[in-house]
Order: sequence, then structure tokens, then C-alpha cells
Amino acid sequence: IVRKNQKNKYIPSVNFDEIGGQYRAKNELKEALDFLLQREKIARYGIRPVKGILLTGPPGTGKTLMAKASAHYTDAIFVSASGSEFVEMYVGVGAKRIRSLFQEARSLARKHKKNRAIVFIDEIDVIGGKRDGSQQREYDQTLNQLLTEMDGISVDQEVQVLVIAATNRKDMLDPALLRPGRFDRHIHVDLPDKKARLHILQLHTKNKTLHSDISLMKIAEETFGFSGAQLESLANEAAIYALRENKPEIEQKHLASAIDKVLMGEKADREASS
Ligand code: ATP
Repeated sequence: IVRKNQKNKYIPSVNFDEIGGQYRAKNELKEALDFLLQREKIARYGIRPVKGILLTGPPGTGKTLMAKASAHYTDAIFVSASGSEFVEMYVGVGAKRIRSLFQEARSLARKHKKNRAIVFIDEIDVIGGKRDGSQQREYDQTLNQLLTEMDGISVDQEVQVLVIAATNRKDMLDPALLRPGRFDRHIHVDLPDKKARLHILQLHTKNKTLHSDISLMKIAEETFGFSGAQLESLANEAAIYALRENKPEIEQKHLASAIDKVLMGEKADREASS
């Protein structure tokens, strides 16, 4: 029995309203996704389908969220992989994995009676980096398979597939990936400005009790350079400080300590990797 409103676990529940800031990026993305929704019209005009969207920008700015919200927006099946999963794979295994990712997307869509699917590839630069002779030969087959899959996408197919990829190293990508008909739409997802930081803080404190003295605007002002992921972490750490002190509400000092904690964490990570 198919119950109404039953959630489909292959369609993310994240929607664009849950992404703070990124107003321009969200609009550009929705505009591209509207092409996917107007499939018949696009075909009638002889316009080729949007096959690939590249999300670029620093880590933790919400690229993965954007990809998931895209699937929610278009009622599409969502499957994903990360470029780093392909590291140290034997020759040919990566290509197989790519093939099965697309097959999975199509078969899940058919099974769940959806006519759209989004394949999300995070850290695309790992498999799609510029080829420079001897290096990275083992990734060639993986990249070639991805290109083959993308070239095979057409409006006539029963399931319309869209590939969304993310990278923070756009300059590193093989030009073959960026050709028309492949990842020819690029959307930059940048670090949030003050207004966007406030929006993100509001979203991530919605489920928390804040003391009435708290000014999230002040926190937004003090967190220049923070990514969305860091702001999420800040809100969580502040709640942990409040819990430790057994306080019923998060106070300004908990938020201040949380800012330090997030900054210190970043510093420790940097030192560990250098
Ligand atoms: P990476 O490049 O490291 O993969 P990303 O850009 O894909 O990062 P996400 O994985 O989407 O970033 O973000 C990580 C988490 O940070 C999200 O799950 C969310 O909690 C929070 N976050 C990031 N950006 C935003 C945003 N704009 N609004 C709300 N939350 C955000």
C-alpha cells in the first residue's frame, strides 16, 4: 500500500529554505533546475538538457546541502559519491563504480516511479583533475566513464538524469569536464557575509533555547570568515557549554566560548595537517 505523504528515503528532505544566505547561488541553481522540470518544453524548442552543474567554493559552505535541496525541489531520486572514494582503487574499479552509480539512479527512479534523478559527486577534482602525463592514469578510466555517462544523457530518456558536482579546486579540473553539454553551468557558493551568517545562525538555533539577552547579530559580526559548517558547529558547541553548566538557556558567554572553540579546532586541524 502506498501511503500518501510517505517520505521517500531516496529523496532528501532538505529544502532551499533551510540553506542560509547563498541567495544568488540558490536562484541560479533553481533557474537551471527549472529546465529539468520543463522537460517537454525544452525538447519542443530543441534545447539540449542541462546535464551537469558544477558547484564551486570553499569547504563547508553548503554545496552538499544545495545538491540535496535540488533533488527535493525537482522531486528527483538522489544518489551520491565522493571523489575521495575512488582513491587507491584498482584500475577499472572506479569506472565500474561510476557506471553502477548511474544505473542505480535510473533503476531507483523507475522503481519509485520518478522521472528524474540527481547524481551528486563531491570532490570531483579527485577524479577529474587535469591529466599531466604519467600521473593519475588510474583515474583516467573513471573520468572517461563519467564523461561517457554524461554524453549519454538525453531528453528522450525515461529517467532524466542530472549530474551535480562539487569542488573547491575548479582551476584543477580537466577541461574535458567543462565542455558544453557536460559541466557547463557553474555556480559559486561563497563564504557567507554578515547577513547570511545571521540567517545561518538563526536556522541552527531554531531548535535551541536562547537567553533573551542574546544578540545573534553580534555573533554574526564576530564570525567574519566562518563557513556555514562552522556556524552550525558554533551553535552546537554553545548548547554543549550551556548543558555542562546545567543552564536552561544558552547565554552570550556560551556563544563566545563556542566561537573560540571552533577557531581553536580549526587551528588544531591545520597544525595536524601541516
Ligand atoms: P565540503 O566542501 O566540505 O563537502 P559543503 O560545501 O558540501 O562542504 P555541506 O556539507 O553542505 O558543505 O555543509 C556542512 C554542514 O554545514 C551542513 O550540513 C549544515 O549543517 C551546515 N551548513 C553549511 N552551509 C550552510 C548554509 N548555507 N545554511 C545552513 N547550514 C549550512
